[in-house]
Amino acid sequence: MAKVGFIGLGNMGLPMAGNLVKKGHEVKGFDIMEDNLTKAAQAGVKRVASAAEAAKDVEIVVTMVPTGKETLAVYEGSGVLQAAKKGTLFIDASTIDVGQARKAHDIAKAAGMLSLDAPVSGGTVGADGATLTFMCGGSKEAFEKARPVLEGMGRKVVHCGEAGAGQAVKICNNMMMAINMLGVCEGFALAEKLGISHQTLFDVVSTSTGNSFALSGYCPVPGPVPTTPANRDYAPGFMTKLMVKDLALSQSSSQDAGVATPMGAQAHAILRHYMNMVEGAPEKDFSSVANFVRVVKK
Ligand code: NAD
Repeated sequence: MAKVGFIGLGNMGLPMAGNLVKKGHEVKGFDIMEDNLTKAAQAGVKRVASAAEAAKDVEIVVTMVPTGKETLAVYEGSGVLQAAKKGTLFIDASTIDVGQARKAHDIAKAAGMLSLDAPVSGGTVGADGATLTFMCGGSKEAFEKARPVLEGMGRKVVHCGEAGAGQAVKICNNMMMAINMLGVCEGFALAEKLGISHQTLFDVVSTSTGNSFALSGYCPVPGPVPTTPANRDYAPGFMTKLMVKDLALSQSSSQDAGVATPMGAQAHAILRHYMNMVEGAPEKDFSSVANFVRVVKK
């Protein structure tokens, strides 16, 4: 069993750290929000007063923060690299820009640490149930050291390649998910106008060629799949502002790589427009865009 420092105990980090405790790992946790520290302590995580303290006397430090800005702030400005022993493995599970991920690797390496970018898919349901998929970038040594701990939080752990490769796979995944979700939302909006109930559309399409995870696993209207955010007034789940962030990452990577991704660009534009137009939208689950799609008239 490993000694782990966990930094960032939000919607994802809190259940992930809790699962490590359940699997028998010794986990110290830090978050800048007091409320999250209290919840983590209830889940058996030893709360500490700083990121640096979380990194002291552990074998592995996991960060699960909103964006690359916070990841780099933790790596560069919180004293974690000074507090950790040489050779500690730093895993960033947040979804961040490929370039920022590579920078985080460089910073860790210069301080004599091992590092891995290991973003996840599976959402809060996967974080709660320890069924996440981890997409990892970094050396084979870092990956093999991380594997037993990642397996305590997920069902599938994949080595995608060198530094930044995990983030590259992740932003492709999220671009595909957003495009699928908007397609599902448009299908429900059209079906409603044609007099078809949500349940009827779901029952047919979820076993037909129009099916996708966005429909059968993350249905954006209440009713057909009781566990989705749509059934709890779109409490996240995955906040709209985080999906907009990921779509911005995929768009900047598309530009850098010289690849046309017009569907991804459209999904980014619609979700960004929704987020800017509707009060409260940034913090709601991104599937709440169903209500926005529904009211947009030709
Ligand atoms: P969140 O905002 O709920 O949690 C992030 C936590 O990080 C917050 O509790 C915040 O207080 C903390 N934090 C920020 N800066 C910090 C710092 N300097 N030191 C310590 N703690 C700090 O977000 P989330 O939904 O848990 O997402 C975290 C990451 O996982 C994001 O990059 C997101 O894109 C990614 N992700 C989320 C989901 C999902 O379904 N929510 C799914 C896959 C990936």
